Amino acid sequence: MTAQLRVVHGRTGVDVEAARRAVTDLLVALGRDPGSEHLADTPRRVAHAYSELLTPREFDLTTFPNEEGYDELVLARSIPVQSLCEHHLLPFHGVAHVGYLPGERILGLSKLARVVELFARDLQVQERLTKQIADWLRDHLAPKGVGVVIEAEHMCMSLRGVRATGSRTVTSALKGVLREDPRSRQEFFALAGIS
Ligand SMILES: [Zn+2]
Repeated sequence: MTAQLRVVHGRTGVDVEAARRAVTDLLVALGRDPGSEHLADTPRRVAHAYSELLTPREFDLTTFPNEEGYDELVLARSIPVQSLCEHHLLPFHGVAHVGYLPGERILGLSKLARVVELFARDLQVQERLTKQIADWLRDHLAPKGVGVVIEAEHMCMSLRGVRATGSRTVTSALKGVLREDPRSRQEFFALAGIS
């Protein structure tokens, strides 16, 4: 028996029209002329870009019974992450390594990437994003353990301020066996390619 759950998110959607007006105001505040030929369509483009970056695609979460009794780590490596830092509204991007030790149910592998997207398409800080993915998997899959590592470069650090270009921030969230058992934890980090 498979179990399906339509994943909907209670987030308030983006008011694209209001965002377009606000970008026009922002251009004026930045000393630019939104009436100029080059900038005429910029407010609309920016509003749509933010809307896209803040709206995850809905997906059906299909879980399957773990009939074979698979009890080794399932790990998806280098899932692309694109998100927006809530402090600067600038992107941060990188990869997520998401693993779990199955309990009674397993999840379609492609769904791990959709869970990452579900929380990445929001105004975020990397620490919270990492934890939300781990908590969601724990709550929906009841696995024996969950591990999430995100490595990301933050444009607010690369382009301004300290200008730490190329520097990556690494965050992790571990649950259950992966948190408690050093051997499992080590195996997870080794498979994720983190030493
Ligand atoms: Zn920032």
